[in-house]
Amino acid sequence: LPSRHEAGVYNVWIEFTQLAATTKCLNLGQGFPDYDPPSKFSNFLAEVATEKNSYFNQYTRGFGHVRLVKALSNLYSTLLNRKIDPMNEILVTVGAYEALYCVIQSNIEIGDEAIIIEPFYDCYEPMIRTAGGTPRFIPLRNTKPNAKVSHSSDWKLDPEELASLFNAKTKLIIINTPHNPLGKVFDYEELNMIADLAKKHNVLVISDEVYEWLVYEPTKHIRIASLPGMWERTITIGSAGKTFSMTGWKLGWAYGPDYLIKNACVVHQTAIYTCATTVQEAVARGFEHEISVLNTSDSYFQNMSKELKPKMLYLSNVLQENGFTPVIPDGGYFMISNWTKFENKLDLSSETDKYKDFRFVKWFSKNAKLQGIPFSAFYSEKHKFMAEDYLRFCFFKRDETLKKAENILSSWT
Ligand code: PMP
Ligand code: GLN
Repeated sequence: LPSRHEAGVYNVWIEFTQLAATTKCLNLGQGFPDYDPPSKFSNFLAEVATEKNSYFNQYTRGFGHVRLVKALSNLYSTLLNRKIDPMNEILVTVGAYEALYCVIQSNIEIGDEAIIIEPFYDCYEPMIRTAGGTPRFIPLRNTKPNAKVSHSSDWKLDPEELASLFNAKTKLIIINTPHNPLGKVFDYEELNMIADLAKKHNVLVISDEVYEWLVYEPTKHIRIASLPGMWERTITIGSAGKTFSMTGWKLGWAYGPDYLIKNACVVHQTAIYTCATTVQEAVARGFEHEISVLNTSDSYFQNMSKELKPKMLYLSNVLQENGFTPVIPDGGYFMISNWTKFENKLDLSSETDKYKDFRFVKWFSKNAKLQGIPFSAFYSEKHKFMAEDYLRFCFFKRDETLKKAENILSSWT
């Protein structure tokens, strides 16, 4: 294996989905809903696959099925208040993963540096390293470590520390808002501070916005590409899996100025060439429907966070009542929680992992039959020590599932 792939040898999703299967535990680990997505969206796929003489079961345009890129262009042109060219400023990919991969491969040369904010969605680091780049990490710092109830907005970047990471080798910075795993939604000032540094140092911004519709009121999602002078240097990434709550559809996209998208297209056409036509046509119909109801009470995009907020509050109460200290998210469908009140009560010596959050999560999956994800999985090796007191839970689950989690947790406290 070429050494630049070493960072990708360990994969937290592979380890923890296997563990969930073998321990048969209640799985609040990997992020996915455990109930059906709205049938109107899945019915589109059934219709598309069975329509006569439609050619939807055959190849389509490589950079994105035309009906889909037009729908994406309509939506994001409205949201960004600028005309987005469907044929040159959008690339459709196999999930947000492939979009991230194409954008990173097409921008990083050997020796380039990329700034990654910790905690970070785990694939960013191996993607940068595989391309020959060097990640430079900066942790969000909990500004209220002793608060009884902690919020994701308390986790902040130090502007001076961030500024100190930029140099002549810096090619790009990756941001993720709403954030996985913290649930932080970057506010205007934070985005503006990042934007100013990106402009000053002529750096590309990759904005991973897969949870763009999952924001809890009154917080608002702000797209960094809409800030002054930022369209020109931003590629924004989205995911149909997150947008329509169907993670198995694995369709994503990148949008940005044509000269940046064109390069990502080269990687896409080499690796994938074209995504599944049926799924693209079904997602296009889903978007057309959503665009027609955007600011109404029928909007799934708007209703999703209303559906999830009670689940989020329920889990945060359950955690607080049972000795954990959760960090209340402003967006996304994950919640991290400090678990260290259990540390002296449990004998984790049967687990041999280097980091204690891994030992706790594995022990808890096997013995309490409830799984989360160790928080240090979202940190660089050097900074994992900062994360060992936490684990992440996914709360996009049926109410009965969350109730079962409550029963498990209360029987262990
Ligand atoms: N970015 C973030 C922040 C994610 O949480 C995920 C996982 N869902 C992805 C990217 C990848 O998304 P997809 O499943 O569309 O590839
Ligand atoms: N994005 C999902 C999560 O954070 C999992 C993605 C994966 O399985 N690779 O849980």
